[in-house]
Amino acid sequence: MEKKRILTGDRPTGPLHLGHYVGSIQNRLQLQDTSEMFLIIADLHTLTTKSSKEEILQLRQNVKDLVLDSLALGIDPKKATFYLQSACPAVYELSLLLSMLVSTNRLFGLPSIKEMARNANINNDGMSLGLLSYPILQTADILMAKAHAVPVGKDNLAHLEISRDIARKFNQLYGDLFPEPQALLSAVPTLVGTDGKGKMSKSAGNCIYIKDDAKTVEKKVRGMFTDPARVHANTPGRVEDNPVFIYHDIFNPNHGEVNDLKKRYRLGTVGDVEVKQKLAIAINHFLEPVRKKRILLEQEKNLVEGLLFEGTAKMRALSEKTLDEVKAAMGLKGLWSKIVRGRKSPE
Ligand code: ATP
Ligand code: MG
Repeated sequence: MEKKRILTGDRPTGPLHLGHYVGSIQNRLQLQDTSEMFLIIADLHTLTTKSSKEEILQLRQNVKDLVLDSLALGIDPKKATFYLQSACPAVYELSLLLSMLVSTNRLFGLPSIKEMARNANINNDGMSLGLLSYPILQTADILMAKAHAVPVGKDNLAHLEISRDIARKFNQLYGDLFPEPQALLSAVPTLVGTDGKGKMSKSAGNCIYIKDDAKTVEKKVRGMFTDPARVHANTPGRVEDNPVFIYHDIFNPNHGEVNDLKKRYRLGTVGDVEVKQKLAIAINHFLEPVRKKRILLEQEKNLVEGLLFEGTAKMRALSEKTLDEVKAAMGLKGLWSKIVRGRKSPE
């Protein structure tokens, strides 16, 4: 049976952290074995909220970090195809053509776009057309690859609904071309940040990064938020919703140790210091082989460039074929092809 084609990926906005591992990479490690997986590096989507010259110049390093972190965590380039979005020009054209198939009201109503604007300190008047049409660009990514499925978090479900509607509308208007992409809603948890205030995210500054060294991890874990009501080591503490124990449950494979710590924490017979020391050891144990692998990968000359070159060439060919089919289906192709090729019509 042919493997399902999956499109997933990230905006290159910085290095990966433990939240990314829990929320998306773990899922990808499974998907790369069972599907044909394309990993988009969505640099054009980054521009929707970060378009200053400095931010654009930062993309090169971010792309490198993203690929190296992913590989170090176990993404296998023989199984998954990384590609650079901006180097597949068909996406610009397809995005424009697809934008005719969705109403502006639909886009204005999306809470996810408003949240992105809020996070980037953009008010309603400052909302660019580019940010508003984020889901259309995303749709072009998905449809040009003719992806069957897209792993999404809850916040991204509404975007995929738009993609499905656009695919359906296109097929109705111009003939069956696109599979309706399915949402692969995985039950992945959102990892809380080290400050315990909200999800781990770069902008909140509450991250443990994949490439953090052992000392940095120890320091960050030492500073972690625990049960705010517990002032002394000998007062009974709360284990539920306590970030330190949430991390223990995910990253400490020694269940006996974790259960013992929880028991003593509830009784008030263990201090935060011991709980955190053991957590730092567990996280470092998980990250150590990842860090080692990352250092080796980083030393391989032109590794990232080479992978991106190959992967992008593959997607470029696929996307150009799709764009050609789109234009043919819409009746644009015959109309303009001679002019497009730069020749005068013989008539
Ligand atoms: P920013 O602060 O710039 O928004 P971020 O650290 O939140 O950055 P994103 O690039 O927004 O990272 O995250 C991309 C994707 O990674 C999310 O859509 C989600 O799938 C996953 N992800 C990010 N942070 C977490 C987290 N704390 N827990 C689970 N999944 C996460
Ligand atoms: Mg975010």
